[in-house]
Amino acid sequence: MVPARPPALVIIPMVQHTGAPCEPVVAVGDEVKKGQKVGDTQAFISAPVHSSVSGKVVKIAPCNHPLGRPVKAVYIESDGQDSWHEDVRPSQDWEKAGLDELKKITRNAGIVGMGGATFPTHIKLSPPPGTKIDYVLANGCECEPYLTSDHRAMLERPADMITGLRIIMKTIGAPKGCIGVEDNKPDAVQALKNAAADYSDIEVHALHTKYPQGAGNQLVKVLTGREVPSGALSSAVGCVVQNVGTCIAVADAVCFGKPLIERIVTITGSGINEPKNMLVRVGTPMEEVIEQCGGFKPNIRKIILGGPMMGLAQPTVENFPVIKGTSGILCLTNLDVELYDIRPCIKCAKCVDVCPVSIMPLFISSAVEHGLYDRAESYNAMDCMECGCCAYVCPAKRPLVQWGRMSKADIAAKRAKK
Ligand code: SF4
Ligand code: SF4
Repeated sequence: MVPARPPALVIIPMVQHTGAPCEPVVAVGDEVKKGQKVGDTQAFISAPVHSSVSGKVVKIAPCNHPLGRPVKAVYIESDGQDSWHEDVRPSQDWEKAGLDELKKITRNAGIVGMGGATFPTHIKLSPPPGTKIDYVLANGCECEPYLTSDHRAMLERPADMITGLRIIMKTIGAPKGCIGVEDNKPDAVQALKNAAADYSDIEVHALHTKYPQGAGNQLVKVLTGREVPSGALSSAVGCVVQNVGTCIAVADAVCFGKPLIERIVTITGSGINEPKNMLVRVGTPMEEVIEQCGGFKPNIRKIILGGPMMGLAQPTVENFPVIKGTSGILCLTNLDVELYDIRPCIKCAKCVDVCPVSIMPLFISSAVEHGLYDRAESYNAMDCMECGCCAYVCPAKRPLVQWGRMSKADIAAKRAKK
């Protein structure tokens, strides 16, 4: 992994998490320090955002966002000094810290799930009252093709990963920690086993390499044998799942006072000249990252943020910052990408066979195609984890994931209204 060049300008969007958007807590013209909070909200499900440089706020305006609609962002010009904010300082021994203090640090550091879901971590550290958590499961599967950022993190920071896992176990009161890593990463399995050697309450498991092994509920099943019921959270069966990168971010916040202002990003695919993993500051314009990888190849056809199965295709990288959930930038050429016409469903049931959550994509998609969202809900559309397996095998090339997403958005909006 190589560190990216410090950016001259960062764009900090107010939405980098699942939940309510932040509002800027700085104004144009303000001087800010590295690690200073620049956006926050009182909403329960949310996470604050911080500046990744020291410098001056030059603009508050919308920027492009992977969600497909512009999002309010704070633009900060770097002064090149990288002076840290006074709140960023190492804390005393975390093992003596109180549970509420650990949750507060995690919240104030703006930590979110770094595997792509970006759910605020402090919420996961507070399971519903009366819920007993037996296991914290660290997800090191990174099962999407092309992506290797978690792999690098496990190889380069195994001790911090174990520290983060122990902090989470303590905060939740879980007696056991389990790390699941696919067996195509034997070096990461060994590195974590070495780092966890002194902790009898932590196990490292090499798991069969298959997609989508890294999906939260799949990991619960394979590591504990427990099955998360439809519509429930993993805490319902006594498990909390955290991505390995999130564990490292928790260790950084609790031990060093460092908010989530950088992450490892995999820049890869046949459409980029020098594919690599880079440590990139949150807010860095993607164009700069691409330029540091030798630029696009001339026959670039598709840019996907994330992996090829669950990532979101983007029309451009202009005015697009790297955010907390940017695990990868996948650049594909016209040799990798083929355009298909959507054809009628032939009821082959291949999509049903491969669906890891045992729902029926053909019926959900057909309902959405006809605007029958209530019917899609009755087929448990909300259980879809958007893994893309159904669309991958569909011989009629139907956009099953996109239709599934549409139904989930409609159902979620209706439920929110109620
Ligand atoms: S994307 Fe398709 S295969 Fe994956 S969970 Fe959803 S319906 Fe099932
Ligand atoms: S795989 Fe495609 S064609 Fe086959 S049943 Fe599912 S939606 Fe229909």
